[in-house]
Amino acid sequence: MSEKYFRFGLLGQQIAYSLSPRIFDWALREAGLAGSYESCSLAESDVAVFMWTHVKSLDGLNVTVPYKTVVAGLCHELSADASRIGAVNTAYWSGNRLIGDNTDSSGFGFALDLLLKNRPPCRRVLVIGGGGAARATLLELERRGVREVTVAARDTTRAESTLQHLAFSGLRVVPLNDCISGDGYDLMIQATPIGSVNQPGTPVPRMLPIDSATAVMDLIYAPRETEFLRQARECGAQTMNGLPMLIAQAAAAFEIWTGVRFALEKAMLELLPEFSPR
Ligand code: NAP
Repeated sequence: MSEKYFRFGLLGQQIAYSLSPRIFDWALREAGLAGSYESCSLAESDVAVFMWTHVKSLDGLNVTVPYKTVVAGLCHELSADASRIGAVNTAYWSGNRLIGDNTDSSGFGFALDLLLKNRPPCRRVLVIGGGGAARATLLELERRGVREVTVAARDTTRAESTLQHLAFSGLRVVPLNDCISGDGYDLMIQATPIGSVNQPGTPVPRMLPIDSATAVMDLIYAPRETEFLRQARECGAQTMNGLPMLIAQAAAAFEIWTGVRFALEKAMLELLPEFSPR
């Protein structure tokens, strides 16, 4: 009997920077499985056909910016998390059904535990951005019982409308420029693409008045330190980039697709230093 060969893929746009192929190569090697991971950068007009045809030959597909919502709309079935977040980052065919899941929330939770280690539980949180990644963080914050969350968005009407589906009662949405007055947040999460290699800059005109009492996570990992994260670090805040979340959300996807445990702690020890050369 021939050994199963796993085929995974990543769908997105401008994804040459992605570390997902290296994470999945590591995971396959570590688990002693044969397989490969391909990156597919497509125009939006090609996404539906790709999902109905090519993805059928894959054991699993990761979805990244800007297609997480588009793919959610194409799935026959969504997991509870994908449904509440309204976005899919992990998809696969099961028989004749395209299944959409979302592992960003649990991946964020793993990273948050690392960031908040030895800190009191966070009570006042600022999330910058109202897209799919922001909603994934909000779902996890709600599960942890955080009740006071401010979402800063450039388009508050749109953010309020997309966040409505999440039904998070302790949420207030403010315009991006209004969050710069600072409000004694003990956790800030940067969840827009601004500051990434494809979209340099910073989402807020100047850093909030923060200090070491605030922990700051930027979900971006390329570059390793965004302008926003650099400014937060220079204010004395404890900072974390998007790498731990990236590895943890990949771990959850790998386990869904293969049924094989992903050695997450070992991956953090081996991959984080490899990805963040000093
Ligand atoms: P998305 O669904 O497209 O949402 C992007 C959000 O950013 C929207 O709220 C958008 O506002 C806002 N935004 C875009 N351009 C902006 C600007 N110039 N100023 C202010 N706000 C702006 O994307 P996403 O899936 O949430 O991803 C956001 C970022 O998180 C990406 O960089 C992604 O790579 C990263 N991410 C990382 C991980 C990880 O594992 N580390 C996981 C998921 C996502 P509008 O609604 O007004 O357009």
